[in-house]
Amino acid sequence: MSILEYSATELKKKLEAKELTSVEVVTAYLNQIKEYDGEIRAFSFVNEEEALNQAAEVDSRRKRGEKVGLLAGIPVAVKEVLATEGQKTTCSSKMLENFVSPYNATVVQKIKDEDGILLGRTNMDEFAMGSSTENSAFGATSNPWNTDYVPGGSSGGAAACVAADMAPLSLGTDTGGSIRQPAGLCGIVGLKPTYGRVSRYGLVAFASSLDQVGPMTRTVADSALLLQAIAGHDRLDSTSANVEVPDYLNDLEKPLAGLRLGVVTEHFGEGLDEEVRQAVNDSIEVYRSLGATISEVSLPHNKYGIAAYYLIAPSEASSNLARYDGVHYGYRADEREIWQELTEERHRLVADGDERSATSPLVKMYCKTRSEGFGAEVKRRIMLGTYALSAGYYDAYYLKALKVRRLIQKDYLEAFKEVDLLIGPVTPTPAFKTGEKTGDPLSMYLGDLFTVCTNLAGVAAISIPCGFSKDGLPIGLQLQSPQFHEQQLLRVAHMYQTQTDWHIKRAPLAS
Ligand code: GLN
Repeated sequence: MSILEYSATELKKKLEAKELTSVEVVTAYLNQIKEYDGEIRAFSFVNEEEALNQAAEVDSRRKRGEKVGLLAGIPVAVKEVLATEGQKTTCSSKMLENFVSPYNATVVQKIKDEDGILLGRTNMDEFAMGSSTENSAFGATSNPWNTDYVPGGSSGGAAACVAADMAPLSLGTDTGGSIRQPAGLCGIVGLKPTYGRVSRYGLVAFASSLDQVGPMTRTVADSALLLQAIAGHDRLDSTSANVEVPDYLNDLEKPLAGLRLGVVTEHFGEGLDEEVRQAVNDSIEVYRSLGATISEVSLPHNKYGIAAYYLIAPSEASSNLARYDGVHYGYRADEREIWQELTEERHRLVADGDERSATSPLVKMYCKTRSEGFGAEVKRRIMLGTYALSAGYYDAYYLKALKVRRLIQKDYLEAFKEVDLLIGPVTPTPAFKTGEKTGDPLSMYLGDLFTVCTNLAGVAAISIPCGFSKDGLPIGLQLQSPQFHEQQLLRVAHMYQTQTDWHIKRAPLAS
């Protein structure tokens, strides 16, 4: 077997047995990136030199018999939204194009502390707003299964690099589906942990009450490994939960006697692609044959999920993104252009005898900076959010959305009284073509129908590969659990992978 074919868990064993060195592993991945990333464009930065140095250092420590960490010598790719000391943390936005982070996000620090190798930074939708990675200011990423198609988003680069064997492990973030949806569309595993399970410190905020960091991997066992490394309470993030972290890896093989799975009625309605329906139904049968009890459950407020999410997330975004004002850090519009435009305005106003309505230089600087620094989708969200929060509309939109959010949370609590986990599709359809939905934001938003409620309720969910469309595009299966039940989610998803081989299939890369 070649190095690239090993899962991270297998690599870990080979490295521990000294059958492989980390330098060999990192070199193999760097070569794969060189060969294929020109076409896929999953990475925005490859940390070549430092990764090799780090690998050599871990190798020599291991050779000397020193204790090494959980991820020792294994490469990890990191989404652009996670602050990494000394590296650009651009959020795939022109606004932060030249921003070099002075500190590490807690998850990045944890990977370093566990001796994982930081392989590079992955492309994403600008500020994590999107479902296709087409909103990156630095160009779109392609789906490794067919480069005419999107990889999903916003963690599109994070998913594509794993699907194209350019990284064994990667970190994504999920506010309304951004780990699970690209994982589903690229045929890999994506885990969105419970809100609070993983620290958000150093995760550049999009919607703070929904954002969560999680693993994107080839196998469920690898997700357990990466979650083990990043989970836990962090005093730097007051929303991180002080809940003990179980041993995800040890528990993986524990049998699941009496498992109760709930099929979400609302996830099988109108708009669900027939091939997706079939693949998910087949997976449900796999669980039935393993002895699980299958029943139907309802999440009656699921249908309001998109509306509530697309009010709450933009509202939080409009507030979070206020900090990009051209003063503190990041992009600032060209000062000569600012003065020139102000002068032209002045001339016009003088001619009209209306000098008093002249724009102040500061306001002009803010407006020009933000108009030029943000892309169209980010601006759309800021406007939507500002509107929903403004006096007179707050009660009608934002507050109403919060009430709906509470009802959605209650639906989950009710459902989890009946069943252990929920099962259904990740997305209504397999991947769509690049450019197909860019002119129609609403149809892009509707694709998040099965993922946003998880975030609104703060529960955990995993996406695992469960089939292919006749066009050869991957299809994802979603399992959702109550808060802090990642352990069970991983065990049940792992059980599926012991019975099926969808996760072993590799994307047909053209060199
Ligand atoms: N697609 C959703 C959105 O555009 C989710 C994004 C995310 O989870 N970061 O907001």
